Amino acid sequence: MRLGRLGYYADFVVYPLAVAGLAAAGLYSTDMVRWPNWFAAFVGGFAIWTLAEYLLHRYVLHHVPFIKDMHDAHHADQTALVGTPTWLSFVIVVAFVFAPMYALTGLLVATGITAGVTLGYLCYVGVHHMVHHLPSRPGSYLTAMKRRHMLHHHFDEQLNFGVSSGFWDRVFHTDIAPSEAAAARR
Ligand SMILES: [Zn+2]
Ligand SMILES: [Zn+2]
Repeated sequence: MRLGRLGYYADFVVYPLAVAGLAAAGLYSTDMVRWPNWFAAFVGGFAIWTLAEYLLHRYVLHHVPFIKDMHDAHHADQTALVGTPTWLSFVIVVAFVFAPMYALTGLLVATGITAGVTLGYLCYVGVHHMVHHLPSRPGSYLTAMKRRHMLHHHFDEQLNFGVSSGFWDRVFHTDIAPSEAAAARR
């Protein structure tokens, strides 16, 4: 969805505060002896996000009607301020992550998992923004992510779905290395 400047950058203000708020709520709700449980849930939530990032991009952004049109707008104009409004991603995280986890496991694990998922989402939005808007140093992580995402945009949009890492593309064999893309052009 095309967003105004305020709407586009809101994630970068709201979500760091949400992660901090979730950490405070989870950790203050219990004794220090149970804090490792919170951190385990947090790391688990972050890992879950990396898979969600891959699956959402592969099966939702490129296939589901209406959502696909909005993602196509990003493919058509890569530097336009196109994204998911913060209120919408917030509602989705509360409804599909926090609420079920709270019902199943209670506040400690629910806040940990939700904080991990939220931080993962923030990394995804941040890396995707930097890939399209910022210069990168040769050999850096950002250059590597830029290369693989540009192949998604310009070589084959059914490959390289991961934006913040190529891990799940390698697992599901949707990864394309720059050398392969160069070979295919010859
Ligand atoms: Zn992109
Ligand atoms: Zn795409």
